[in-house]
Amino acid sequence: MKLHEYQAKQLFQRYGIPVPKGVAYSSKEAALDAVKSMIFGSWVIKAQIHAGGRGKGGGVKIATTSDTAILAINSIFGMQLVTHQTGPKGKLVERILIEEAVSIERELYLGMVVDRTSQQIALMVSADGGMDIEKVANETPDRLFTMLIDGEKKIDMATSSELSEKIGLQQELHVGADELFQNVYRLFLECDASLVEINPLVITEDNRLIAADAKVTIDDNALFRQSEIQEFRDPSEEDINESKAAEAGLNFISLNGNIGCLVNGAGLAMATMDIIKLHGGEPANFLDVGGGANAQQVAVAFQIMLQQSTVKAVLVNIFGGIMRCDVIAKGIVEAAQETAMSLPLIIRLEGTNVIDGREILAQSGLNYISATDMDDAAIKAVHAAAG
Ligand code: GDP
Ligand code: MN
Repeated sequence: MKLHEYQAKQLFQRYGIPVPKGVAYSSKEAALDAVKSMIFGSWVIKAQIHAGGRGKGGGVKIATTSDTAILAINSIFGMQLVTHQTGPKGKLVERILIEEAVSIERELYLGMVVDRTSQQIALMVSADGGMDIEKVANETPDRLFTMLIDGEKKIDMATSSELSEKIGLQQELHVGADELFQNVYRLFLECDASLVEINPLVITEDNRLIAADAKVTIDDNALFRQSEIQEFRDPSEEDINESKAAEAGLNFISLNGNIGCLVNGAGLAMATMDIIKLHGGEPANFLDVGGGANAQQVAVAFQIMLQQSTVKAVLVNIFGGIMRCDVIAKGIVEAAQETAMSLPLIIRLEGTNVIDGREILAQSGLNYISATDMDDAAIKAVHAAAG
């Protein structure tokens, strides 16, 4: 689960990580009212959406007078903000953060992620903060420094001094930097984060380290024990289809092609996608109903297929094991009727009670294309999707 910047900064404060003074608003009127009474030298107005690159897209503005702050609030609040991470449609800005602007001497980068290969925690720093860190990593990888930390151990002083030196911090900032690394690390572990990123980490003109931006992602598998952080969940940022699928116990992954794949089991999902590609097609998604496939789940799956305008044909590839094919067939018929499924439907059923299952489908009056095996199903789906 991703957090908004203002939420991440609340966590930062709790862990002693310095952040600028600021307040978030979900009402434009309240923001406009408040800014008049904020006694700041200058203001930063920041769109709160779950995407980076807001600055370049016009979602972060600095104002030196309260009048220009008001202009900035008016332009950012309610805008459709497009960044390299939002897709071409952008995201509606329904919340802003107003902060006291800090005077920047240098912009650094600090990131912490789980490194799966080494099964350790990677602490990354760079002197090239404020810009696209992926670009730094690709074009000038020698300017991004990574230290691996054993999650069972502390960050020792030697490690943090080395990092401070790599990014050219003056000696007098080393103690503060060490504290910062320790605090980020403590937050990372205690909050079950999978990512903490400060870009830019600012050295102010009066020589303080401040987190001007904040990005935190929490491991979904640990949310059950992070009740306070769960409160930060913002449903408006979630993909409607993904939430709907998750509620129905479906695994849904949206892809770029035009064939919807309704399957049971992740292995079968992989095989189905492979065979579609083998026959020259591209999957639009995969919807895994898991071990079972009841009518309710199939109905939700069909609803999602109908929502995704890129889907031109649906391939149902089900292997009846513990779940019998006759039960599954009934589920498919019910769900197709309930959702008025109108896309070309290719069905391949195999496994326990398959004869009964096929019989139910054949007798149902459902308009579908029957397939004998996976090859046959994929060929028919690719053909149907091509129109
Ligand atoms: P992002 O573009 O979504 O990553 O948003 P950031 O919070 O990183 O802001 C983008 C840029 O705005 C930063 O790299 C800074 O250059 C600038 N910025 C943000 N906050 C301040 C501030 O308090 N003072 C100044 N002078 N610049 C800021
Ligand atoms: Mn940033």
